[in-house]
Amino acid sequence: MADHRNIDGGKGNMADQGSLLSTATLQIVPAVPLVNGFDYLAPPGDPPRRGSIVMVPLGQRLVPGIVLGPGSGEVPQHKLKAVTSVARLAPLEPAFVDFIEKMASWTMAPLGSIAKMVLSQPKALLPPPLQTVYRLPDPLPDRLPDHTKLTKARQRVVALLQDVGSLPSPDIQKLAGVSGSVITTMAQHGLLQSEQIAADPPVMLPRLDIDGAELTEDQEAAAVVLRAAIGNGYNAFLLDGVTGSGKTEVYFEAVRTALARDQQILILLPEIALTASWRDRFALRFGVAPTEWHSDLGEAGKRRAWRAVHRGDARVVVGARSALFLPFVSLGLIVVDEEHEHAFKQEDQVIYQARDMAVLRARLEGCPIVLASATPSLESWVNTGMTGEPQRYQRLVLAHRVKAATMPDIIGIDLRATPPERGRWLAPPLVEAVQARLDAGEQSLLFLNRRGYAPLTLCGLCGDQVTCPNCDSWMVAHRLKGRMRCHYCGHEARPTTNCQSCGGEDSMRACGPGVERLAEEVLLRFPDARFAVLSSDTVTTPQASELFLKSVIDGEVDIIIGTQMAAKGHHFPNLTLVGIVDADLGLAGGDLRAAERSFQMMMQVAGRAGRESRPGVAMLQTTQIANPVMTALLSGQRDAFLDSEVAARQAAAMPPFSRLAALILSAPDEQRLHEAGRALTLTKPHFEGVDIMGPTAAPLSFLRGKYRARVLVRAKKTVDIQTVIRSWVGNVKLPSSVRLHIDIDPYSFL
Ligand code: ADP
Ligand code: ZN
Repeated sequence: MADHRNIDGGKGNMADQGSLLSTATLQIVPAVPLVNGFDYLAPPGDPPRRGSIVMVPLGQRLVPGIVLGPGSGEVPQHKLKAVTSVARLAPLEPAFVDFIEKMASWTMAPLGSIAKMVLSQPKALLPPPLQTVYRLPDPLPDRLPDHTKLTKARQRVVALLQDVGSLPSPDIQKLAGVSGSVITTMAQHGLLQSEQIAADPPVMLPRLDIDGAELTEDQEAAAVVLRAAIGNGYNAFLLDGVTGSGKTEVYFEAVRTALARDQQILILLPEIALTASWRDRFALRFGVAPTEWHSDLGEAGKRRAWRAVHRGDARVVVGARSALFLPFVSLGLIVVDEEHEHAFKQEDQVIYQARDMAVLRARLEGCPIVLASATPSLESWVNTGMTGEPQRYQRLVLAHRVKAATMPDIIGIDLRATPPERGRWLAPPLVEAVQARLDAGEQSLLFLNRRGYAPLTLCGLCGDQVTCPNCDSWMVAHRLKGRMRCHYCGHEARPTTNCQSCGGEDSMRACGPGVERLAEEVLLRFPDARFAVLSSDTVTTPQASELFLKSVIDGEVDIIIGTQMAAKGHHFPNLTLVGIVDADLGLAGGDLRAAERSFQMMMQVAGRAGRESRPGVAMLQTTQIANPVMTALLSGQRDAFLDSEVAARQAAAMPPFSRLAALILSAPDEQRLHEAGRALTLTKPHFEGVDIMGPTAAPLSFLRGKYRARVLVRAKKTVDIQTVIRSWVGNVKLPSSVRLHIDIDPYSFL
């Protein structure tokens, strides 16, 4: 976000947080989407504090909720329901409750939707499950009851437990090679004692006695600043370092310092599916695995992680954006790695930008935050003060790669001068370059950010396009799976060779390439090369991604054909060529960040080349060789590019030089959508410094079976856009089938 004052400026419920609330009624937000706070009668006994977690009735259900403060008094006491119970858990930290309220106010999401993200693991609110373990009685009975013999099996159990103390039955069975009944009868005869203990294994503490790499001068200079920032309140840093400059090593220094102060650390990564190598590096440096938080964790794993964070035992948490809603008790540092990544923007349910919310949380917790990137977002760039705006972030620069002497050369291939052959996608210079790498035993990456075989399938006779029945979109051919798939809603269909519209036989044609089609060309052109496709369709689990990366590093692959999944964070020592097959792809559509996003992605993917001692080359195929994005990439002028983008945004009065919000209306029925649009149009407010555009049909006017319309609200920076929107839509009655989503600072304009 451009300006934090506005986030903090909202009316937070700043109750006196330390003291017990003495009132008979409490304001509580149930962890249920779409609701806000309600008053409840306090339970008898010590009243819960702000941040206490309670169970409350809501409709017919009993749901968890968070105490915000004294009741609002809006509803007479005799009509209130009572708190059912108070969880036996320490209340959430005051700074965290402030965060929940401020985030709701900024994103305009109902408080309950955010409480739901915080209390996402209902089982974590209960005492941890117990587990029975067995140990030898102390002292061991020297005489056994007459009818028991110490059989061989029993001797093995005794020997095992003499060694390790106590174990649950399944472990004893496995390690001593006995059946469960052996253990049960031993217990019956008093040869074993049982005990109930909490089932959660303790979290291993990171080690501080392992030395990291010897830092380069650049790295040390940045590390000195970060170490000094730990324990010194809120401070935001942009760690701006070229790919391969060792940013991770630098923020590990800050992590280490925070650990030495017994603080907790949160590290947000954009693509959690691909963090195996990150995890290994962490383990090398700190001797243990970090606590992870992401959607692939099972329910039990999430419950354990939540509890461990809340106990303060989980010291370093690495996770996707939802890790921001964990109940830290002594947060001392937040790191947002690859801060420019659009994956940090959550687009469904609660719409929020996790990087911005991480800054908010750091501010409220009073701890430093490090945003790391080789291609900073325009917003963060502006916040460093480099463009003359007030400085909010301190910039730390790593200008050089650690291992390779140079950054990869970026070479443009003008597709108008040297086009590929008809029906092919690789132009002659790129083909030659790949061949040269094959001859030298080096690896190449062909980057094309398009999943599947072809983005469009149409009839060669009548031109009919294969579209999704639920969306305003093309069905994408996925030949490996033998399916047609909509990338918006996931709808799948069987491909047909005959046209469904004109009945033409064998008339359906694929248009344009996806990675699968590119693989076909690679197979034709380089029949002896070993290639692999890296996309979210071919590599779907963390394990698969680990295997994939290992096979590349072990040299089992000559050519990688990859989507954006290949652009991120990987370190392939023998990769010396990156071919960007369609550099123009991201520029179409013309949304606010199209140029910035294209630039970032191509810069990142080019940065995969030549990361070790061998120099790397990136070649980008384009039909717009004079486009500013290409010129900036080819001349390596990142800062100049950012500055010109900033100037363009400023000239157009677009964020971060203004505030923007999108209202998205959706309804299963077109008529209702029109009614809602009319209701909004009739009540459009007129404020100084506020433009309202729409409602108009959204570019994606039909999505997942719903019709959609959009409104764009743009306001001067001095205007509190949330208040403007609240005062408008808060007073409009929309038909009940119409949903309204508010997207503050939108990234998607579909
Ligand atoms: P970035 O995140 O900036 O792209 P990394 O932190 O991944 O860079 O570092 C790139 C590579 O250099 C990694 O293999 C890392 O282990 C190594 N590295 C980083 N700093 C040093 C150092 N000071 N000495 C030796 N190797 C280093
Ligand atoms: Zn669809």
